[in-house]
Amino acid sequence: MLRRLDLRDQTDGYRDAVPRAEVDVEHALAAVVPICDDVRDRGAEAVLDAGERFDGVRPERLRVSAEDIEKARAGLDPAVLDAIDESIRRLRATCEAELERTVEIEVAPGATVERRIVPMQRVGLYVPGGLAPLVSTVIMNAVPAQVAGVPGIALASPPQAEFGGLPHPTILAACARLGIDEVYAAGGAQALAMLAYGTQESEPVNLITGPGNIYVAAAKRHLQGVVAIDSEAGPTEIAIVADATADPAFVAADLISQAEHDPMAAAVLITDSLELADAVDAELERQVPTARHEERIRTALAGQQSATVLVRDTGQGVDVANAYAAEHLEIQTADSAAVAARIVNAGAVFVGSFAPVSLGDYAAGSNHVLPTAGCACHSSGLSVRAFVKNMHVVTYSDAALREVGPQVVTLAEAEDLPSHGAAVTVRLEREATTR
Ligand code: NAD
Repeated sequence: MLRRLDLRDQTDGYRDAVPRAEVDVEHALAAVVPICDDVRDRGAEAVLDAGERFDGVRPERLRVSAEDIEKARAGLDPAVLDAIDESIRRLRATCEAELERTVEIEVAPGATVERRIVPMQRVGLYVPGGLAPLVSTVIMNAVPAQVAGVPGIALASPPQAEFGGLPHPTILAACARLGIDEVYAAGGAQALAMLAYGTQESEPVNLITGPGNIYVAAAKRHLQGVVAIDSEAGPTEIAIVADATADPAFVAADLISQAEHDPMAAAVLITDSLELADAVDAELERQVPTARHEERIRTALAGQQSATVLVRDTGQGVDVANAYAAEHLEIQTADSAAVAARIVNAGAVFVGSFAPVSLGDYAAGSNHVLPTAGCACHSSGLSVRAFVKNMHVVTYSDAALREVGPQVVTLAEAEDLPSHGAAVTVRLEREATTR
């Protein structure tokens, strides 16, 4: 089911050798730019038109009413609500520990620089809903935003024909649980453009976060600059570095679990063991036919983006994994912790046989919105850091400015910017105050 890529004789050039999707974000840009431009020019009508075209339904209005959100919460299975609560609890604990605090640094007597942490004032959260209602993504987006203290949170998710043009009820129920009441029935590029540019019905946001399919990733790339984005979190990827000690049933189940997301999802096994590669193939043959989304899984596993990569040893496996920069990377080797310590490029790393990616998808306490398509070599997964800004606040007394003033004047002269120096000199020439 998985093609094989033999890199055992290769010693470099892994970045070009690793499997990647044939259709990349650049291609999808051609489809999404006209959609974004149309929303910028025509606002809500353009969002509704695109929804009708791509989601097959035209909601009466984009903003979901408070009654519809409450109705969804009341109708949800209590067991699902309990699971949502546990997922929120674990992620909130991580976010609270990660939140940086404001610090004040005294650089000289009377001279302080405060590094103030301020939340973004208005953010847009995207929650996919094309192939699966990703309720967990409501949590992954909203909890860090709330812990960061963001006062204005808007959320968008595609309208569903089977629910009268509303986003999926489980998604609405999670919004209710988190106290998010500004929810829009909009998906894909049109939703992101709506959040970025604003419409007659909605104010623009400063930042858009959240995952989505290739069109969502392309729209984020296009709209960057109009708004900030977290990272390009496109079709999911799993890479597993495994040796002969790995359990082939676990490895196959984990590959399948991510292939289930999207026909464009990537599943990559990196191993130095031919026996394991064969055993995983056998397990895939056994497990895939029993999967509910068999067709989607088969397409993803058979795609150009998926493969078993044969390596000489685990050391080469680490180099290949770092070159691939997977969204999710599992390490299932004899000494998983030591191997994981050598990983420098991955959205998130799952160490050992008992930390499958699907644990991280729902309830590990980590975030599941992660960079894809090699972006993990320069971008991080979503966290509270995405929702805050650092602001330096500078306070100097008269005496403190007198102490460093001559150096400022010297540097201003060296840069041929004498007016910079004059702004200090005008103060130094005044009679000293006690302030
Ligand atoms: P989605 O909400 O991302 O996409 C649905 C939207 O795609 C539609 O509303 C429509 O507007 C747009 N669309 C569909 N076909 C189009 C076309 N031909 N041209 C322009 N726009 C089009 O939902 P989905 O499709 O189910 O995808 C969810 C994705 O999110 C999956 O790929 C999954 O792997 C990914 N994901 C990634 C992460 C991550 O952190 N990287 C996390 C969770 C999910």
